[in-house]
Amino acid sequence: MRLKTTKNEEKKAVEEERRCVNCGRGIKTLFVQYSPGNIRLMKCDNCKAVADPYIECEFMIILIDLILHKTKAYRHLLYNMLNLDADDTKGVFLKSSFVYFLLDACRISLISNSRDDWDSSGSPLVSIWTCGKVLMDVLLGNFVFISVIVLGTKFLLDLSLDITRCKEIMLAILISSYFKLFLIAMMVWEFPSSVLFIIDVFVLSSNAVALRVVTQLQTAGCLAVCFGAHAAKLFTDRWVLHLLSGVTMRKMLLT
Ligand SMILES: [Zn+2]
Repeated sequence: MRLKTTKNEEKKAVEEERRCVNCGRGIKTLFVQYSPGNIRLMKCDNCKAVADPYIECEFMIILIDLILHKTKAYRHLLYNMLNLDADDTKGVFLKSSFVYFLLDACRISLISNSRDDWDSSGSPLVSIWTCGKVLMDVLLGNFVFISVIVLGTKFLLDLSLDITRCKEIMLAILISSYFKLFLIAMMVWEFPSSVLFIIDVFVLSSNAVALRVVTQLQTAGCLAVCFGAHAAKLFTDRWVLHLLSGVTMRKMLLT
């Protein structure tokens, strides 16, 4: 009897992995398809509104609402578009992590260029050392960033964490850092360094909204955790660059 109840609970959890974008409540199905192109959107039993009107919207509308930090758009993206519990999440996780680390490397390169930290002698050994510095900075900075997010969520916001919840939070943070794509434009065209600060602030606020959506906690708490994580990462980035800028490959070869 107990086994049957557990199986029913598991089945219900799988069925309700989609969410109503208005209230966040799980829902069995978001729409019913009668024929190709002919669908009827389902209403949420809890709030009585259409569960996910974004299904019928163009991606540009969703993108605008994401930029406007609407929680409904984040719920649609994280639960109904990506489906965090699906088997293919691993692929999405790996791809978004790769893009995230790559964009972070661009960001550190831009910071170093603005500080004239790079040795422009053109030697292959110096280039390898420079890449090593960026890689070390990206890995260490993000280790600190992820640690603060996880520990802040667990202790400051008093939320119990398991592997699934950690995965949800990490994916939400990765996906909500999409504005870092603007860094590619900064690598091609010249922008004032203040644009880097604007991108960082936008990513921080976007991370806070995504964290609020997946944890269903207060906005102020999520903002505090994200601010702490970004501040710790920024401090680590600057500290590592400052530490390594005094050690050039030429100096290493001399010793
Ligand atoms: Zn609802």
